[in-house]
Amino acid sequence: MFIPAIKHTLQGALSVAVLMVSSASFVQAADEKRNVILIIGDGMDDQQITIARNYLKGANGRLLLDAMALRSTSHILTVEDAVSSSPVYVADSANSATSMATGQITSIGRIATSAGEDKDIITIAELAKAAGFSTGVVSSASVTDATPASFIAHVISRDCENPTRMSVAGDNPSWVNAELCKTDRVDNGGAGSIAQQIALGSTDVVLGGGMKHFQPRGADSDKTLLKMAQDNGYQLVTNAAELMSNKSSGKLLGLFSEHTMPTRLRGEDGRIAERPLPSLLYNISSDLGSVVLPESMRCEENPDYAGMTSIKQMTDAAIKHLSTKADRGFFLMVESASIDKASHKRNACGSIGELAQLEEALASAQKFAADHPNTLILVTADHGQAAQLIPNPKAGQAFYTPGHIARITTPEGQIMAINYATTEAHSEKHTGTNVPLFANIEGQGRVPSMVTQPEIFNIMSAYLGLIP
Ligand SMILES: [Zn+2]
Repeated sequence: MFIPAIKHTLQGALSVAVLMVSSASFVQAADEKRNVILIIGDGMDDQQITIARNYLKGANGRLLLDAMALRSTSHILTVEDAVSSSPVYVADSANSATSMATGQITSIGRIATSAGEDKDIITIAELAKAAGFSTGVVSSASVTDATPASFIAHVISRDCENPTRMSVAGDNPSWVNAELCKTDRVDNGGAGSIAQQIALGSTDVVLGGGMKHFQPRGADSDKTLLKMAQDNGYQLVTNAAELMSNKSSGKLLGLFSEHTMPTRLRGEDGRIAERPLPSLLYNISSDLGSVVLPESMRCEENPDYAGMTSIKQMTDAAIKHLSTKADRGFFLMVESASIDKASHKRNACGSIGELAQLEEALASAQKFAADHPNTLILVTADHGQAAQLIPNPKAGQAFYTPGHIARITTPEGQIMAINYATTEAHSEKHTGTNVPLFANIEGQGRVPSMVTQPEIFNIMSAYLGLIP
């Protein structure tokens, strides 16, 4: 069995999938390896891409993304959990990654489980593994975070990251709803937390942050999840040097930070977007012309990033590891997670640096594809984010925003004004825009000019011969 304590619904789906794989093998020569590299920029909508291009390459410059052979657009779909026929117009990373991983629309927060019914939905990584491909996930978030988890685990909620998070008595952040995880608890016959499913799973390469989620003991064990993973054949690496020098051909688990990996860039002296003062929120009768805008700032290296393993290093190691196996090829998902996470915090420079990291990972994928033409590269986002590129307000000009503004001095010496105004609260919100979908030349004839997000699963599965 390729995943532990698999639910009966998934077993049924797997049987069907294996049958489909068998029939599909007639159209794919047995000796022809095929690979899919799916790169997800979390929250990477066109605002984020434009902001990053302006800063990294200049207004007339081009990103690697811009030069990809095909560009399409992906329409994101999610639904109410209680009424799966009722659409919801703004998504989160769990339901949107589930769409790409399974081809099914589900509700916000779910990890490869169905809206309302809570049935496990088989993922492309599981289908590929069962069909003889190698599989891997790479993320700059915790490997238990919503995007990677949706490819290799099944739980009712993204909150169910480790056994402590699934315990109502656990020492958990206030936003964790441990009660919701009850159905997936091992003592209820479930497969346990996301970290436990990864530790006991068969994904060949799992690289990212999230060491803290593997420190608790397994729900049904006196061993930590880390020990359970090692007993299940995973070799553990915890820094870039160990990762690069690793020669093992067995399963590889790389955990390079306690939780989300730090962003490469940050605002000058750690600054983020700030509220113009005085604003109408402080003084409804204030003279709009007297608004004081935040000082402009450059982006700088984030000191917390020093010594951190890069997304490129993880991608290079994953490709090397997966491509040397004598099998049908591989499926690899790579996530640049903090385009989104930095945007939630109104940290424009953080998002720019993470998009630069995504570009480096794309370069690695393209280098591999140049030597291995049967490699489909897709790059997309899971949903939109809050940042909006707005005109730079001039001194004395009437200006009002209900939110916060970052004024970034670009290397071209101009000021780029970025507004965050989706909420008054601590964390900005996602937005409901379509997001770009890029493909290399292998996408020709396979990627239409517009897709719904679940169709990305169909494109990848068909390419690997997993569905007829
Ligand atoms: Zn987010």
